Amino acid sequence: MKDLFGTNGVRGVVNKTITVGLVTRLSASAGSILGENIALGRDARLSSLLFRYAAAAGLQSVGCKVHDMGVLPTPTLQYGTKHLDLDGGIMITASHNPPEFNGVKVMGSDGVEIPRSLEDKIEEIYFKGGPDLASWNQVGNLEEVEVIERYKTGVLSHVDVQEIRESGIKIAIDTGNGVGVLTAPDVAKRLGCKVYTINAPLDGTFPSRDSEPRPDNLGGLQDLVKASDADFGLALDGDADRSLFVDEQGSVVWGDRSLALLANWYLENHPGERVATCVSSSSIIEDVTERHGGEVHWTCVGAPEVSRAMVKNNIHFGGEENGGVMYGPHQPVRDGTMAMALMAQLLAKEKAPLSKLLSELPFYAQSKRRVPCENRYKEEVLRELRRTLKAPRVENIDGVKLHFEDGSWVLVRPSGTEPVFRLYAEASKKSEVESLVEEYQSIVAKKVSSVR
Ligand code: MG
Repeated sequence: MKDLFGTNGVRGVVNKTITVGLVTRLSASAGSILGENIALGRDARLSSLLFRYAAAAGLQSVGCKVHDMGVLPTPTLQYGTKHLDLDGGIMITASHNPPEFNGVKVMGSDGVEIPRSLEDKIEEIYFKGGPDLASWNQVGNLEEVEVIERYKTGVLSHVDVQEIRESGIKIAIDTGNGVGVLTAPDVAKRLGCKVYTINAPLDGTFPSRDSEPRPDNLGGLQDLVKASDADFGLALDGDADRSLFVDEQGSVVWGDRSLALLANWYLENHPGERVATCVSSSSIIEDVTERHGGEVHWTCVGAPEVSRAMVKNNIHFGGEENGGVMYGPHQPVRDGTMAMALMAQLLAKEKAPLSKLLSELPFYAQSKRRVPCENRYKEEVLRELRRTLKAPRVENIDGVKLHFEDGSWVLVRPSGTEPVFRLYAEASKKSEVESLVEEYQSIVAKKVSSVR
């Protein structure tokens, strides 16, 4: 089990499980192995300024020069890290977590979250008490830099601005009081779109809705889409890497359906290419990829796993089922503003309503469950599950995934962040998926109690 890093960065409750001391030493440890020039950015949480000072201090203490990019979306920091040729980046954010949380995401020189092996190295240094400190005359380097404009220009360069302008698309945008307001509405305007916003003011207490956009908390956006007759709605999470869409009728689109639609569009123009996604994603991704002669590259769960697989295997399109769209020609990381521009491009090309384009995709019913299991038993339970569970096709990429003859599947994996096993299942009908997931929920629960 990881001690600091979870599925995506280090997270905790402010002044309880994540403190100034932790962020300072963590940033120093990261800085000591990433290199000399490090980008630093933060979201708009109340505690983010506090941890910005902590990270800046930690980085400088090991002789790094801090390139402070201020308040901005995570993908903008990632873009800036790569395009300013820096050695790495640190983003102070707890992404979609509640306001009392904060966290640290660490990027490599390519702007992508560092691989697990580097996380382990940073943890090793951290738990040894921190890295060696720089001498007195090597500290104190900090410069403020502006990357938001450069980032917006980058996003715009990947779509046909003229074509989108001529299509007269209307977009309703819900940035959920998060930092997406700094990029998405302006990019949409520069695409010639008519833009309507809701929950726009930056507010680290997230007063309007949870910073994680979900079908159950997007009522405001759904109403706005209908009232403004928008072609689609876009909802972003707290640091604007994840994007959920609402169709022109006001229905929230599940993340893997919008991902599949965008993947399908990408593959129409790049037939035969591979698409990277995690094993928890819907078979719909596989359907559209194979339709165009391509192949899915399955990865462990977690956005950094997908991004790293894209880099390593030269894959240009990827994503995850919770609203993470990764467009490699721009950058192989989740990017909500880029996803919005791609959706506008797709609609401008197809000249059809989003709901109609989505209805042409295959449909699967999905279900998720969780089974409590103390962290110390997870390994043994998983070993037992892998030994005893049988299916026509079994995959052990992350946890254990069982594929059945009728196309249904169930995935059981230990959570990287909570003392639970997560279950994901998919089948052609709701009733089938519910009985499948219930069956395996009780199998896993039995296994957990037998191991304890
Ligand atoms: Mg996020």
